Amino acid sequence: AAPVALVSGMSSMSAHHIIVKSGPTLEKLARAKTFAFDKTGTLTENQLVVDQIIPEGDGLSKEELQSLAASVEHQSSHVIASSLVKATDSSLIKPVTNLKETTAQGVEGDVDGKHVKVGKLSFVAPDHEKIAVTSTAVFVSVDGKFAGYITMMDEIRPETAETIAKLKRQGAEDIMMLTGDHMQVAEKVGKKAGITDIRADLLPAEKIKAIKEVPKDLRPVVMTGDGVNDAPSLTAADVGIAMGAKGATAASESADAVIMVNNLSKVNDAVAISKHTMKVAN
Ligand code: ADP
Ligand code: MG
Repeated sequence: AAPVALVSGMSSMSAHHIIVKSGPTLEKLARAKTFAFDKTGTLTENQLVVDQIIPEGDGLSKEELQSLAASVEHQSSHVIASSLVKATDSSLIKPVTNLKETTAQGVEGDVDGKHVKVGKLSFVAPDHEKIAVTSTAVFVSVDGKFAGYITMMDEIRPETAETIAKLKRQGAEDIMMLTGDHMQVAEKVGKKAGITDIRADLLPAEKIKAIKEVPKDLRPVVMTGDGVNDAPSLTAADVGIAMGAKGATAASESADAVIMVNNLSKVNDAVAISKHTMKVAN
């Protein structure tokens, strides 16, 4: 396409709060056949709601469990972490030393002389038997011993179903959900969103693999994500779109395009503008 048309397309994008970093991104977006989405914070709200706090046995009180978990989560930028911290009274947030985050697994640190791990059950207490939860859950262990869990409601965004339906009308041939969360939660969101190609329980490396394995005739593939953890899969896609008003997150740096407002329907706008740009350019 003529460079002048691409520049005009990019400026039209920015008027719609979508920053496109290069002309070729517009060309690929216009031809895109597969759209992959991260779940948590992308298809769903960027804030989860704390539901139940369930200490194991008669160990900790609910307040103690929440206090330990929120303290360790305080520095994490994961949407689960920020949601839990926001729901916790600041007087319950304690100082943490030796803090360490393991991408897509959880966070650990020392609180009051105890080693606290927060995140996936396989991360906090690998030997513990599976716990059947139907919602997004944060598990906690203290000094290696399972201490309980907190369930969180991961609500689909109000605009998600219409965004997905419109993408199909815009010519998307496959729409995928890629998530590190478990299948039951993923399927619940998929049903409401109109997405049937669901890949759950994925590690970041498996998200990358899922994108790289998209066959040629279903490309270009666009990946949209919001989180720091999504940066590698945004890079792996033909077009990576970072969403969220947070600005200079790792996700935006790895992205080819950044949606500057907290609204998933901007993906539809990006596709529409890119298609229009290519039509007038050719
Ligand atoms: P998603 O693909 O759903 O956005 P991620 O790949 O970021 O999820 O993380 C996968 C899973 O790892 C989460 O669903 C959660 O169970 C766990 N996890 C990752 N980081 C954290 C954290 N900071 N606190 C609690 N749990 C976490
Ligand atoms: Mg995410």
